[in-house]
Amino acid sequence: MGKAIAIFNQKGGVGKTTTNINLAACLAIKGKKILIIDIDPQGNTTSGVGISKRDLDVTTHEILVEDDQHPEDAVIATGIKNLDIMPASVQLAGAEVELIQLTGRDKRLKKAIDHLKPQYDYIFVDCPPSLGLLTINSLTAVDSVLIPIQCEFYALEGVSQLMSTIDIVKKNTNPDLEIQGVILSMFDGRTNLSIQVVEEVKKYFREKVYTTVIPRNVRLAEAPSHGMPVIQYDPKSAGAIAYMEFADEFLANEEEL
Ligand code: ADP
Ligand code: MG
Repeated sequence: MGKAIAIFNQKGGVGKTTTNINLAACLAIKGKKILIIDIDPQGNTTSGVGISKRDLDVTTHEILVEDDQHPEDAVIATGIKNLDIMPASVQLAGAEVELIQLTGRDKRLKKAIDHLKPQYDYIFVDCPPSLGLLTINSLTAVDSVLIPIQCEFYALEGVSQLMSTIDIVKKNTNPDLEIQGVILSMFDGRTNLSIQVVEEVKKYFREKVYTTVIPRNVRLAEAPSHGMPVIQYDPKSAGAIAYMEFADEFLANEEEL
């Protein structure tokens, strides 16, 4: 039985999508069966693995708002062995409004994920940078939350809101929700600021912070425009090496649990 993990931080641009694509690809290469679910209307995870958002029949949108869709119908294989995706389309932007009037509006993704779980080792959900029903659906559907934090001046800004969102979901729809871990991204070892941010985040989240830190690396920013995870685009880059290390640490932590 697989485990579902939401990649969540309501701040935009902190590395959620980059972590989703690259951690998932590295785990798939290591032999784990992985599904990534794109629930961000921007669809950056979808295009980032080389799938065109235009000619898709069934996407996360239909799975959320139509009662008679089979979750499998939205799942497609990527160019990487063991890595499947449930893609997003632009229609997903309307889902926040469409969901409001549907029954079980905060548990619709959970239904799909529970159905797909037996087929995968891990299911990762790439959350949008907002706290609406798409995010609530994600946090309600998963076992745990992986939090990327960018090494920048305002790194911890918004973290208390993030934690209170997790608490609200625990109280209402998902009492067993856990924090999988915190991954620091866009680290620049040449600046004192990056080093200070790492210290601060460790003070706040303690042992939840992964030892691996993802460096700022231009190959990570370039790879999506080629529709590839960095491990495919430039396997020798610092970004690829960091995400491979992160995948190892992620799996080692999982064995300890
Ligand atoms: P989010 O999904 O949280 O909005 P993204 O993963 O899309 O964040 O990252 C925001 C931008 O920063 C993207 O253009 C991405 O390519 C770039 N980026 C993310 N991580 C790195 C990194 N480690 N090094 C360089 N650029 C990065
Ligand atoms: Mg994103």
